[in-house]
Amino acid sequence: MLNRLRVLLLPGGAHRQTVAVTVPAPRADVTADAVLAALDPEQRAAARAVRGPLVILAGAGTGKTRTITHRAAYAVHSGAVPASALLAVTFTARAAGEMRTRLRALGVGGVQARTFHAAARKQLAYFWPRVVGGAPPRLLDNTFGLVANAAARARLRPGTTELRDLLAELDWAASTLVGPEDYPAAAARAGREGPYDAAVVAQVYEAFRDLKQAQGAADFNDLLMLTAGALEEHAGVAEEFRARYRSFVVDEYQDVTPLQQRLLDAWLGGRDDLCVVGDAHQTIYSFTGASPSYLLEFRRRFPAAQEVRLVRDYRSTPQVVGLANDVIARAAPPTGGARAARLELLAQRPAGPAPVFCEHDDEPAEAAAVAQRCRALVDAGTPPSEIAVLYRVNAQSAAYEAALADAGVPYLVRGGERFFDRKEVREALLLLRGAVRAADPDAPETLAERTADVLRSGLSWDPDRPPAGAGATRERWEALSALHRLAADLAVAVPSAGLRELVAELEERASAQHAPSVEGVTLASLHAAKGLEWDAVFLVGLVDGTLPLVHAEGPEAVEEERRLLYVGVTRARSVLQLSWALSRSPGGRGSRRPSRFLDGLHAASARPAAAPGAARAARRERSGAVSCRVCGSSLTAAVDRKLGRCADCPADRDEQLFDALREWRAERAKALGQPAYCVFTDATLTAIAEQRPESVAALVAIPGIGQTKLDKYGDEVLSLVGQRAIV
Ligand code: ATP
Ligand code: MG
Repeated sequence: MLNRLRVLLLPGGAHRQTVAVTVPAPRADVTADAVLAALDPEQRAAARAVRGPLVILAGAGTGKTRTITHRAAYAVHSGAVPASALLAVTFTARAAGEMRTRLRALGVGGVQARTFHAAARKQLAYFWPRVVGGAPPRLLDNTFGLVANAAARARLRPGTTELRDLLAELDWAASTLVGPEDYPAAAARAGREGPYDAAVVAQVYEAFRDLKQAQGAADFNDLLMLTAGALEEHAGVAEEFRARYRSFVVDEYQDVTPLQQRLLDAWLGGRDDLCVVGDAHQTIYSFTGASPSYLLEFRRRFPAAQEVRLVRDYRSTPQVVGLANDVIARAAPPTGGARAARLELLAQRPAGPAPVFCEHDDEPAEAAAVAQRCRALVDAGTPPSEIAVLYRVNAQSAAYEAALADAGVPYLVRGGERFFDRKEVREALLLLRGAVRAADPDAPETLAERTADVLRSGLSWDPDRPPAGAGATRERWEALSALHRLAADLAVAVPSAGLRELVAELEERASAQHAPSVEGVTLASLHAAKGLEWDAVFLVGLVDGTLPLVHAEGPEAVEEERRLLYVGVTRARSVLQLSWALSRSPGGRGSRRPSRFLDGLHAASARPAAAPGAARAARRERSGAVSCRVCGSSLTAAVDRKLGRCADCPADRDEQLFDALREWRAERAKALGQPAYCVFTDATLTAIAEQRPESVAALVAIPGIGQTKLDKYGDEVLSLVGQRAIV
C-alpha cells in the first residue's frame, strides 16, 4: 500500500524556500513567571522542561492539557522557543481551538495547535505543488459511497451495517499501516471480526484504493500517509519543514495510531524535542487501531526523557473523583507496552453532591427525567452549556433531543450539523465581512457592540429576546448569540481587536471547524466527550448491551468499554447522574440489567437527592444491592430484582391476590385499549402478590413500579391488597 501511495508523490524538484512566517510577538504584559504561577509544583516542573523529550503520565482532570498549554506559553515568553516553531497536536478540532484560545489568553498568538489531520492537510496543501505539481488530491469527507462501489466491484451487496463494518475495517487497516495484501494475516492476529471473510475484505480494500487513485481523491488516512511520505522521501521538503518546526507536543497520546505516529516521526526526523501527555486509562480508540504502547513505552524509545506524573484532580469534586477511582480500580490495566501504573486521583475541589444513580422503567421515562433535571439545573442558574448528556452510541441522542425540546431546554448535538455550515452563521460572516469594508464612522465603539449591531440590523437578532422553547428559531438565535459572545471574548483577549480581526478569527475557526460554544445542553457520545468538562454530566442508557456494547467481545474489548465509563464519569465537575432503563419501550418486559460496570458501585453512592416523590425515595433505597428475601444472596438479573427473590427460590405468592390482580389488570387494559403488560407485567403482579405491599413506600419499592404507575394505579392496587388482608 505504501508503495502505491508513494507513486502519487512523484520525485519532484523541491527546492528550499525561505518561508516568511508572521506570528504576533508575545504580549509584553504577561511574564514567563506569571504563566508558571498558575501551576502546581509538578505541573510547573513539566512546564519548565521546555526542551523535550518529556512524557506526562496522569489521570483525568489532573491538568495535563493545562500544563502543556502553559508549557508552550512559558517556552515562548522565556524565549526558549519562538511561537512559530511550535506544533501542538490535539485530538479534536475543538480541543485544538481551545488550546489556541487559551494560549492567546496567556499572551501568545500564532502557535500551530491542530489535529493530526488538520496539520497534515495544511502541510500537504503547501508542499504538494512543488512535490507533485497541481492541486493536492480532493479530500473525501465521506467515504461511504466509494466503499460501496468498491464492494460492488468485489461482487458484494452490503447493507448499511455491513458497509459501516467494512469502513471500520478499512480504517483500522490504514491506521495500523496494513495494506490489502497483509490484511488477512493482520486481521487474524488482531482478532478482527470483519463483516466478510478477510480475503474478501482485502479485495474491497484494494478496490477502494484503486478507486481513490483513479479519482485523484484521498481520505483522511491518505492525507497523513501522503504528508509523511512527502517528508520521508523529499529531502527539500523535510529540510524546510524541520527548519520551521522544532518543538512538538501531543495531547491524548494514549490514543495515537501507528499511522499518526509515523507522521509524527516524519515531523521529528530523528530529533527528540517532543512532549507527550496521556492517560492509559483513557484509551478508548483501540478498536480504530490506536494503542497506548507509544505512551507507555516512551521512555524506552527516548531513554533521556523526563517523566512527570500528576495525581491531583482539579476538575471534579471528591464525590465524583471517588466514583472515578472506584470505576478504574476494577479495571484490568490496558494492554500494550509497559503496564500503566495503578491510578488513584486525589480530589482538590471542595465537596459537592454525591453522584446519583437512577433506574427507570423505560427509555422515554429516563429521557424525560433527565430533561426535567436539566430544566431544574438551568432554572437554578446553571448555564445550559455547562450541562452534558453523554451516551454510548449516537442513536441514543434522538430520545434526549425530543425530551429536552419538550422541557424547553436548548441543546446541541455534537457531531450534528456543523456550526459554520449553518445558514445564519454563513450569512453573519458575509455581513461582518461587508461591515469591515464599509467602515461606518457612526459605528458603535466596542467590538461586541459593533457585532451586535451587524447581527441586529442584518439578521433581526435581538440579544435581549431569546425565542421560547428549543426549536429551530431558538437554535438560530443561540448560534448568533455564540458569534456575539465570541466577539466579546476576543475583545477581552486582544483589546485592540476590531471587526477585521473578528472576521479573521471566524475564518480560521471555520477552516478548523472550531465551533464556539453555543448556549445549549451538549448531547454527545462518550467518545466525543474526551478531554472536555462540564459542571453537570448525565451518563445515560447504562445497561448491559449498551455499555459494554453488545458487540464488545473478549476481555480487552470489554475493558475498553469500562474505560469509556471512566472517561464519562471524569467529565463532571460537580453534578453527576448515571441512569438506565429496564425496558426500551413503555410496557416492556423490564428484562434489562444495569451496566455490569456499576456492580457494587451504586450501593456505596446512590443518593438521588433532587428527586421528589415516593417512587424516587424508594428507588433511593433500592438502588443499592438487592438481596433475595428467601435466601439472602444478592440479585442482579432484572427479573429477580423485580421479584425480590431468586427465580428458583421457593415462591410464596398469594394466589388469590394474584388472580384478583390479573382480573383487575385485564379490566384496566381493556378500558385503556392497551395490552395487559402495559399496565403491569406478570413479574410485577407476581412480586405484588408475593410481597403484599400495604403502603405506598412498600409498593414503589417493587422494581417496575415508578412514579407514573404509582400515580395511575397505586390506590387501586393497594386497595386490592388491603381487601385480601381483611379476608
Ligand atoms: P483529561 O484527562 O480529561 O484530558 P486533563 O488532565 O487534561 O484532563 P485539564 O483539562 O488540563 O486536565 O484540567 C482539568 C481542569 O482542572 C481544568 O478546568 C483546569 O483549568 C483545572 N486545573 C488544572 N490544573 C490546575 C491548577 N494547578 N490550578 C487550578 N486549576 C487547575
Ligand atoms: Mg486533557
